[in-house]
Amino acid sequence: MTSLHIDGSWRAARQHRTRAVHNPFDSSVVEEVCEADAADVDDALDAARRAFDEGPWPRTEPAERGRRVAAVAQALEADREHLARLETLDTGKTLAESRMDVDDVAAVFRWYGGLADAQGGHAIAAGPQVRSVVSREPVGVCTQISPWNYPLLQACWKLAPALAAGNSVVVKPSELTPLSTRRLFALLDDVGFPPGVANLVLGEGRSVGAPLASDPRVDMVSFTGGLATGREIMASAAATVKRVALELGGKNPNIVFADADLETAIDYALLAVFLHSGQVCSAGARLLVQREVHDQVVDAIVARAGRIRLGDGTDPRTESGPLISAAHREKVEGYVERARDHVEVRCGGRRPADPALADGFFYEPTVLTGCHEAQEIVQEEVFGPVLTVEAFDTEEEAARLANGTIYGLAGGVWTSDVGRAERMARALRLGTVWVNDFHPYIPQAEWGGFKQSGVGRELGRQGLEEYTEAKHTYTNLEPEPAGWFAG
Ligand code: NAD
Repeated sequence: MTSLHIDGSWRAARQHRTRAVHNPFDSSVVEEVCEADAADVDDALDAARRAFDEGPWPRTEPAERGRRVAAVAQALEADREHLARLETLDTGKTLAESRMDVDDVAAVFRWYGGLADAQGGHAIAAGPQVRSVVSREPVGVCTQISPWNYPLLQACWKLAPALAAGNSVVVKPSELTPLSTRRLFALLDDVGFPPGVANLVLGEGRSVGAPLASDPRVDMVSFTGGLATGREIMASAAATVKRVALELGGKNPNIVFADADLETAIDYALLAVFLHSGQVCSAGARLLVQREVHDQVVDAIVARAGRIRLGDGTDPRTESGPLISAAHREKVEGYVERARDHVEVRCGGRRPADPALADGFFYEPTVLTGCHEAQEIVQEEVFGPVLTVEAFDTEEEAARLANGTIYGLAGGVWTSDVGRAERMARALRLGTVWVNDFHPYIPQAEWGGFKQSGVGRELGRQGLEEYTEAKHTYTNLEPEPAGWFAG
């Protein structure tokens, strides 16, 4: 079995350890993949370091790097159906969602392919006898650790800019969902990158992920995942002062004003929270509704949430799949059980009764009303199909409630008043504000969090800059003795 990609070739783990990958729809084993250990990580870091220090990639013309990165977009598109099926088997999300993920990452590779040679740096008018130029150079060896909810997408958002900027990388997907990332590496092979530029290690967080954040050979660690892990990674990166990029969780507000187009707002409120069973960092899990339309909005959402068709992601009739694992479902259940006595459970709050779903990790779409800002279920990221609803009266109150968690990733505002939309967008401490929409992100716009939702940005121009160092070259064109020390 050869699932590790190190120094340009596929190989097995040194200790020949393996791990079963499960389909969360029915718990069946999809396949066994390699499980790396410290020695494999060591090999991958050595290869990446060598490729950066001695190899051609950082010294390749940016335009040529861009051509190669853009070619990955074509390879992804050609492999769309295969990749989408792998992603659905691995994560349980619907095929329609998986196809959208492939389309998204193809656009991301194309965007960074185009930007690779657009990083001109800038010149500074520092005086008539001086040439002062700030240029951008790759950071070095970058490690990239991704989560299980968007395995392909999160890997590509990191990989495309890192490669475009001339870095070498070691990628580690979640141990729960390695299949699409492994396939991505087969496509990178077809396009052709020099050995050691892109390396893949598979395995769990403690043994394989942790050294990627602490090893002195690493210049930058980019992580997407939970807040607690992000804090650990930041702490272990501190010992060697690595650059750190973190995309962490969210507890995202979705704010509906009474003057909104309510039919559309209700429709999107369902999409906001129940897409991929709520396992989305930007899930609109906190619905804030202006009091005069609260009951109308909630009744409509509850009626429709109860009709969401759960099932196998490969079945085109399925609207929502399972949670990723038994352990994760227990975590979601725990949040709802602890809240149950303090809120009204308007629908869901249990596993589905359908015996056809009994082997999977399903949980019914759940709507909780009468929620209060101080409650655990309102403050913490549940990462499941659970919507909390709070009522508000004024714009100021809506903004205060929306900003009232440690997170600041994304959120939505529904209103027909342009001035109000603008005021709210300014008041919200969020990396992304959607007005009369929810969830769209585009490769050209920066994505990331305020507050404890993260550090740095992915996508956009900044997504590329994160993978570069600024270098100032100051040339004195007419040097003369300084005469500072006269003696
Ligand atoms: P997680 O933190 O448990 O794991 C993420 C990755 O880190 C996995 O690959 C895991 O193996 C690895 N890991 C675990 N412990 C580690 C350690 N000590 N050192 C190094 N690596 C370690 O997160 P998850 O449960 O896989 O993902 C869900 C979380 O991801 C949610 O909180 C979600 O909000 C967040 N997320 C954020 C974004 C974003 O763009 N902000 C996007 C997707 C997911």
